[in-house]
Amino acid sequence: MKLIGSMFSSSRLTGSTVVVLRQNNILRSSIEISNVVDRHFSIIKGQQTIRPGSPKVKPLEGIPSRYEQIAKLKAGEEYDVVIIGGGATGSGAALDAASRGLKVACIERGDFASETSSRSTKLIWAGIRYLATSAAGLLSKNLFLKPTETVKDFWGEFMMVVGCHRERRYMLEKQEHLTKWIPIAIPFDKYVVWPPPFGHPLFALFPVLAPFVLKFYDSLSQFSCPPSYVMGPQQAKEKFPQLSHRKLKFVSVFYEAQHNDARTNLAIALSAAEWGATISNYVEATEMIFEEGGKKVVGVKCMDVAGGGEEFEVKAKKVIFAGGPYTDLMRKMEDPEAKPAVQGASGSHVVLPGYYCPSDMGLLDYNTSDGRFLFFLPWQGHTLVGTTDKKCDAQTSASAPEDEVQWILNECGKYLSKDLRVRRSDVLSAWRGWRPLAADPHAPPGAPMSRDHVISENPETGVIFIAGGKWTTWREMAEHVVDRITDKPCKTTEIKLLGGEGYNKNMPIRLTQKHGMSVEVAAHLSKTYGARAWDVCELSRPTGMNWPKFGVPISTQYPYIEAEVVYACREYACTVEDILSRRTRLAFLNSEAAKDAVPRVAEIMAEELGWSEEIRMAQMEAAYAYIDTYGGPVPDKDGASLRSATFRDIIEIFNAIDEDGSGFLDRTEVEHAAVKLGFPMSAEDVGAAFDEMDQSGDGRVGLEEFESWWNGADDGGLREKMHNEFSFAKSVDDLKNMGQGAMLG
Ligand SMILES: Cc1cc2nc3c(=O)[nH]c(=O)nc-3n(C[C@H](O)[C@H](O)[C@H](O)COP(=O)(O)OP(=O)(O)OC[C@H]3O[C@@H](n4cnc5c(N)ncnc54)[C@H](O)[C@@H]3O)c2cc1C
Repeated sequence: MKLIGSMFSSSRLTGSTVVVLRQNNILRSSIEISNVVDRHFSIIKGQQTIRPGSPKVKPLEGIPSRYEQIAKLKAGEEYDVVIIGGGATGSGAALDAASRGLKVACIERGDFASETSSRSTKLIWAGIRYLATSAAGLLSKNLFLKPTETVKDFWGEFMMVVGCHRERRYMLEKQEHLTKWIPIAIPFDKYVVWPPPFGHPLFALFPVLAPFVLKFYDSLSQFSCPPSYVMGPQQAKEKFPQLSHRKLKFVSVFYEAQHNDARTNLAIALSAAEWGATISNYVEATEMIFEEGGKKVVGVKCMDVAGGGEEFEVKAKKVIFAGGPYTDLMRKMEDPEAKPAVQGASGSHVVLPGYYCPSDMGLLDYNTSDGRFLFFLPWQGHTLVGTTDKKCDAQTSASAPEDEVQWILNECGKYLSKDLRVRRSDVLSAWRGWRPLAADPHAPPGAPMSRDHVISENPETGVIFIAGGKWTTWREMAEHVVDRITDKPCKTTEIKLLGGEGYNKNMPIRLTQKHGMSVEVAAHLSKTYGARAWDVCELSRPTGMNWPKFGVPISTQYPYIEAEVVYACREYACTVEDILSRRTRLAFLNSEAAKDAVPRVAEIMAEELGWSEEIRMAQMEAAYAYIDTYGGPVPDKDGASLRSATFRDIIEIFNAIDEDGSGFLDRTEVEHAAVKLGFPMSAEDVGAAFDEMDQSGDGRVGLEEFESWWNGADDGGLREKMHNEFSFAKSVDDLKNMGQGAMLG
């Protein structure tokens, strides 16, 4: 085992270590992150390990290079506003303010969208859940106890849903190159559900009401969306063969919009640059600058994270914090005593192979075992399954807890046909983000509660923060926050984001014809870069094959090509991880494939950005370590109970132990299983374990008894050993083929 360790060593980054272990060419890392900035790469203070801002990098047409942006930030000029945070909210505010003619600076400490804004469910959704919960609130006993407040609450929430519909329509119509409609099926296997969803008895009848509720939902966007509809079991079977049809009564289908969140974020940030904003990634705000002898904030001290940690100041008339779930950390720089205002709510996603879902239809489970919403969506050729809302402090690591992964897989099993076996080993990637939930700490007593995003100004320092909301409402949030600092009218409803001008739906065909790209690559480039896909194609290299002629892939099976790596360097990409996580979505889709692509991406970037051999190696190491925090087919059992193994995993284990296929386990089979797993036990121990499993005491153990034993509360004996040793990555055949005494794990 060889250790290739690396240590973050900026004074502010103390305590953060990345240890990378290479064993049999598989990289494993343990990353401790105590400071949110630390994860991106190893900065050896004083040395430029990244050098992305080289003057050598060619700027994109109409957009200054990152090198020019950094030079402008350091020039010491005063800005009208400096925005801190380059997620959807901060980049949106920069675009809005710049397009109104303000002099704008915007800084992001990592890559654009490196936090929450790349880890969403990728829906631009109009708030179906809010519609349901607001109706549940209205029809509660509060209507009689506090009628005015209850109606006001309902109206506020309802208007928020109307606002989401308006923004969804804007994204689909104006940003056609980045978005598309996606039909989402809600399967019903009964007409009455109990306990009722959304905590209201009326919703026990949700299956019956759903088609009408969804028609009403359509009407809120003035029927600009494809109409919702109902499918009978037969039609559902044809359209969604993966669905379990055993008890299916009918399926309601409605439409939402879908996008590639990290790309939309980058398109917003670069559009802001196009409109004149001085915007850069890898620049961190470290301190506020106060007016002499006063409390007013007049600028920000910054650190050029990618430039060896060089510090400089940016002066501004106004400062806006757009830190998502990290907004309170920013507010501590302005006022160490600041009361908390933003709570994080974590949500994990699991990516499975594409065959678990039709390529053109998703599924919504509105009533999971713990009441959360679960989306099951086709995305970038894969199946994305995820949910949101588990309150806990935000961390910058993308790592999804194993228990959440298992929970998601269990829930999947509920709707899928029994002959589809979702196994733990099907997980190609898994990641987690933190939704910012905000409250206004400066609101006067009696002020109305905000239902969505919060904008609040500190009366002493003059700093404004904006937090909360959703991806869907980024434009509206930007409009509202910029309205606070200028009377000039907002223009963003008229603005097409980067690549939108000149895009049309036939672009993939034209790209294929002109550049000899494969259909998949051409479709991916059009939906990612819009009309700028032509520029990407100009950089593409011949494949040396008859077909496709151009577009060398960075990973087989994926439509990402080497030309995109070169192009991304011109779009301010600084690290190998930037390319693999956000500029392409390879690490989000398939963490092992992303690791395989690291060396080639590093090689191309080294050439484009003039990296030394030392920088290239450091970059590769940091990319491996970071990508290792995404989940993959092998579970990271640290901190996981694994009691909640998926039902299908348990069936696999059961079937493997059930040597004679009788559907029941006997003592001999349990004894053999212990031997196969590598821990032969005494007859007494096996007997004790068997008696524990055999709850009915009839001398044989059925699947239900085995499942209940597996998920039991106490550890001990055989179960503990099985939990610890059994590899969910192994298939039933692997297990059956194990010789005596072989060890899994
Ligand atoms: C699991 C999940 C699923 C979701 N799904 C959806 C969905 O399907 N549809 C939808 O509409 N919404 C969805 N959301 C909500 C949506 O993703 C968020 O509302 C949105 O991305 C928040 O953007 P933001 O810019 O406010 O925060 P962020 O994207 O977190 O941006 C804040 C930025 O501030 C930067 N920063 C912090 N400190 C500093 C500093 N000192 N200096 C410089 N920069 C700094 C951070 O690096 C970060 O990039 C989801 C959220 C989660 C968690």
